[in-house]
Amino acid sequence: MWLLAALSACTPTALLDPAALPPETPGVVLLATASTTLVTVGGTVVTEQYVDIDEPTDDRDGFRYQILDGAGEVIYERTTNGPMVVQAFLGYWSDAAGVDLLDNLPVLGRFPLHVPLLPEGREVRFQLRDETGAYREAGSYDLAYVEGDDMGTYDLVTGFETLHSSGPSSNRMDLVILGDGYTAEEQGLFAEHADRVAEALLAEPPYDTLAPFINIHRVDTPSAESGASFDGPTAGPRDTAFGSIFAVELINRLTGGNYNSVAVFQSKQWEVAQAASVVPWDTAIVLINTPKFGGMAVHVASATTGFDGFERTAIHEMGHSFGLLGDEYAYDACIQDPRLGLPVNITRDPQDPPWAHWIDDDVPLPTPSTSSWQGHVGAFSPAYNCGDLYRPRQNCTMRDSTRGFCPVCTEQIVRRTFRFADPVDGLSHGRMEGPVENVELEWSRDGEVFATSAPGERVRHGKRPFEVRATYVTDHVRVGLDDLTQVYRYAP
Ligand SMILES: [Zn+2]
Repeated sequence: MWLLAALSACTPTALLDPAALPPETPGVVLLATASTTLVTVGGTVVTEQYVDIDEPTDDRDGFRYQILDGAGEVIYERTTNGPMVVQAFLGYWSDAAGVDLLDNLPVLGRFPLHVPLLPEGREVRFQLRDETGAYREAGSYDLAYVEGDDMGTYDLVTGFETLHSSGPSSNRMDLVILGDGYTAEEQGLFAEHADRVAEALLAEPPYDTLAPFINIHRVDTPSAESGASFDGPTAGPRDTAFGSIFAVELINRLTGGNYNSVAVFQSKQWEVAQAASVVPWDTAIVLINTPKFGGMAVHVASATTGFDGFERTAIHEMGHSFGLLGDEYAYDACIQDPRLGLPVNITRDPQDPPWAHWIDDDVPLPTPSTSSWQGHVGAFSPAYNCGDLYRPRQNCTMRDSTRGFCPVCTEQIVRRTFRFADPVDGLSHGRMEGPVENVELEWSRDGEVFATSAPGERVRHGKRPFEVRATYVTDHVRVGLDDLTQVYRYAP
């Protein structure tokens, strides 16, 4: 028998020894609450979950957690952007409404967090970025309590179905599609809507070529009432599985304001996670059964389904929650928060954008929005709802949901996928087995390469320890190729 150990090739930090970490590990979902200074854990969901632990830290995100061993050493860290996106959004609307929304409605600070259960892990430490960009300690959780704090899955779940299966969830990006505001009688409609979103996503570049690394599940949770709270001029609160609410519509009513009110999210974030956790999941989208147009993405993506083309809105919103991409349009409030960095497809500096590797030499910077530069990557204004920010192309799914993704957003989606999946599944009888052929395998021992191969080709590797470096080959990615690489270390 071969013992699989592994070493991560992805952006190790000085604190960590990636050679000590497996490529993916069983995990648990923590049900957490963030205020502006403190993160607490209110429960857990103990089901079959996995964390691909080579995901690198990204200081854009504003929230970080670290796993500490018994000696207090950091053995793993990861960032997510959901908690700080919520705080930036609520901070803006608190100013508009003249009331501190997070203080008054702490339930809005709830979020789910996938945490790996490493054998040496003892404690999770939470950190929130402050306005200077520094991380501040914001509490911790003792992993000894994981089992005792198990709150279970959501009792409204009546079933689930896997719509697209490409392989083991331990090495796939698992998407869960949930429904809110669909009554028991409307579950057939929800199933149809979920099918349409799954089909559209898998047909959309670059997800089409990534389909062998993606699983998609539908989880059913009938709601008592149809619709979403405040989804019409006179509509009030509705009793739905996840409490989807048009929050800005409510703020308009409270303040007499007239803000664009398409923002919709779930007031029951823990229940969303508890429902999703009936299957292994990495990312989720909630489809909301209302005729009012709406979408948003914080911890999960949300899209309403009562109009033609809602599949495109779902793909756009997943661009935020899964791709960590920013809006490339300017229709809504310009919210810039120093605690959150700008997304990879947004820049303040049109002369030297982070996507310069996609810009041809003859493209002027900033780039005029004229027909001459249609289809070119450059630096176009406005973006991110702000007049002083720039986007990569005139059109992109993140600007206009009816269009395809620009090269910059495409690159990011590919890289994000490989933070939840790795290029191959592992070694079997001298062959590295994987879901696709466009993976280059380099076999080495003591730093000397002794073979190269493709997945499925047999290599005589002998009985002494060796490594295999697997790299997914794609034209979609020009920088950050380490994200597409995994190194596997084998010992007899
Ligand atoms: Zn884009």
